[in-house]
Amino acid sequence: MENKSKKFSTKCVHEGEIKDTMYQGIVSPLFMSTTYPWFGGDDPEKKPYPRYFNTPNQEFLSKKIASLENGEKALIFTSGMAAISTSIMANVKTGDHIVVQNDIYGGTRNFVLTEFDKFGIEYSFTNGLDPLNFSDQIKDNTVGIYLETPSNPLLKIVDLKSVSSIAKDNGVWTMIDNTFSSPVNQNPIDHGIDIVLHSATKYLGGHSDISAGAVISTESRIEQILNSAKNFGGNLSDYTVWLLERSIKTLHIRVKEQTNNAKTLAKMLDENTNISKVYYPGLESHPSHEIAKSQMNDFGGMMSFDLNNNVDVYDFLKSLNLVKPGMSLAGVETTVNFPMKTSHGLMTQKERDIQGIGDKLIRLSVGIESYEDIYEDLDQAIKSSIK
Ligand SMILES: *Cc1c(COP(=O)(O)O)cnc(C)c1O
Repeated sequence: MENKSKKFSTKCVHEGEIKDTMYQGIVSPLFMSTTYPWFGGDDPEKKPYPRYFNTPNQEFLSKKIASLENGEKALIFTSGMAAISTSIMANVKTGDHIVVQNDIYGGTRNFVLTEFDKFGIEYSFTNGLDPLNFSDQIKDNTVGIYLETPSNPLLKIVDLKSVSSIAKDNGVWTMIDNTFSSPVNQNPIDHGIDIVLHSATKYLGGHSDISAGAVISTESRIEQILNSAKNFGGNLSDYTVWLLERSIKTLHIRVKEQTNNAKTLAKMLDENTNISKVYYPGLESHPSHEIAKSQMNDFGGMMSFDLNNNVDVYDFLKSLNLVKPGMSLAGVETTVNFPMKTSHGLMTQKERDIQGIGDKLIRLSVGIESYEDIYEDLDQAIKSSIK
């Protein structure tokens, strides 16, 4: 199905579906075979094999994912970190330097801090999220810039057009973790970014029951990443590939609802006198609201807020009935998380202070329940946790 002209919601449902030529069933068949015949002749690596990332279900689902990000090609991995680590390692060698945004997902930060030295790869974290903070760190041996916007957990925004043009001026690649926005709310390739990454464990999967990752880029860049991916072997099982296809059919409708809920909740929470601050790019008070508006299709389903000092965080987490305290995010169910002790627990107090991650900060991943019910639950839990 040629879908270049199709709308996003249609692509979610139909792009990359496999025709069932045997029975004409309307969903993609699942091909679990790990071996296919070869009688000489053509390149044996062209034959489907799971770790070559080219089984029928992998190939077809990659087409769907690539098209949702307006990219040429995609690869699907067993986790977000497999996609991130493989894509980075495929694009660096000993002696190279990369510029890394300072506010990034904890797992990625840990990957940089614990693995790069072993391979003699140099890195600098930016001092802030202004485009100048990125250009300041570029050195003679810099080969790439690694980004994430909106950032976790404070939903800070990086200006994609400015940073991608800085990268182009310096002849270096750009790679972005687009997990928080999902392809529904932000398409970085349209703003000049070279390589887009997703933890498909989050919005692409959307039901808190799949671990997966993806990378999207041009055909030649994906070819280069594939060469390393075959060595690292982080391919996703075809059964989970098939489940992920099913999940992505509802991606648009889920994320649209999560975003609409989030926009309403951000305003309601902003007016709650037991909350001192709400961090959401859709609020006009957000310092980068205008940049967010210019580069995002909508503001997304993630936000954070600071509880007042007299609210006990652990009591709050225990008093919730509908909303679940959860480590992960982006499912159809609303979850909250306490970054200081979970995702950012490995950072020092000083590092957290620099990023503005306070000890009353709660991260909220908005689900598809009614916003009235979500708000009521949050509000009652806050009220019953005031000391
Ligand atoms: C969860 C997450 C990851 C890592 O994904 P896994 O599937 O857990 O490996 C990377 N980036 C962001 C922004 C995430 O939220």
